[in-house]
Amino acid sequence: MELNNLVEPKEVEITYETDAPVRYETDGPIAYVIMDRPKYNNAQNSQMTYALDAAFRRAVDDDAIAVIVLKGAGRHFSAGHDIGTPGRDLHKEFDRKLLYPGHTNKPGAELLYTREQEVYLGMCRRWRDMPKPTIAAVQGACVAGGLMLAWVCDFIVATDDAFFQDPVNRMGIPGVEYSAHGFELPPRVAKEFIMLGERMSAERAHNFGMVNRLSTREKLDEDVKAMAMELASRPRLGNWLTKQALNLVEDLRGKRSAMDAHFHMHHFAHAQSDLVSSNSLGGMDAKSMAAANKKQAGGA
Ligand code: ZN
Repeated sequence: MELNNLVEPKEVEITYETDAPVRYETDGPIAYVIMDRPKYNNAQNSQMTYALDAAFRRAVDDDAIAVIVLKGAGRHFSAGHDIGTPGRDLHKEFDRKLLYPGHTNKPGAELLYTREQEVYLGMCRRWRDMPKPTIAAVQGACVAGGLMLAWVCDFIVATDDAFFQDPVNRMGIPGVEYSAHGFELPPRVAKEFIMLGERMSAERAHNFGMVNRLSTREKLDEDVKAMAMELASRPRLGNWLTKQALNLVEDLRGKRSAMDAHFHMHHFAHAQSDLVSSNSLGGMDAKSMAAANKKQAGGA
């Protein structure tokens, strides 16, 4: 989801607070890919997206790395796609990694459609199919676009204070671009998750199998490392083949085609919002979304 107000000037000034929105660290056979925009709760702009892709590339290319862990620095895993920080870079072209054209010169709904094919749906599928086991270490908020990053990982370990939420139905959008909701959760729960957009606790997510293991803030690193080391002790090819086999089961159950269908509904919703409100997010922005979410969660 992106703010694409048609009356907004395209030459928006971008002020990055960092040149390195992703850190890459290793510990023996484990690569840690760490989202590092804690000031903005790791909101994902394109700068971060391509830094994530480069870090994953590095981990995949290094034969000494057996397992990849995705983390978020600071209090939260990820607040989702960047819809309002000074580093929001919707109207910037990057060195694309998939075979899609540039988006910034495209008119109307084609702009977001082209961009999100690459940076959201395309990238998430690419990351989901990495040939090494991946673990998402989730603390605090894992919201909207943040869900996509956790869902592409093979395993999710979450702290007991973590929560998951897709609030974009407030924007008239039927869930985030990588529509795994109906595969991660039972259908009735997935409807509730999107339509009501409430926070789902890590414990409830664990009950549905969306979270593999529960941990705590104090033990998250230790628990994730133990799991990663165990995975690293298994044959490399066996891990890759197992991952592919189970990903294929999901695809045979229709995950890929359901996502393709949903992606077009998602963009019909963006376009409808542009037509009726000149804003592809249904008139919502980062501030109003945060306020609505807080109110719903009963927070101050
Ligand atoms: Zn979108």
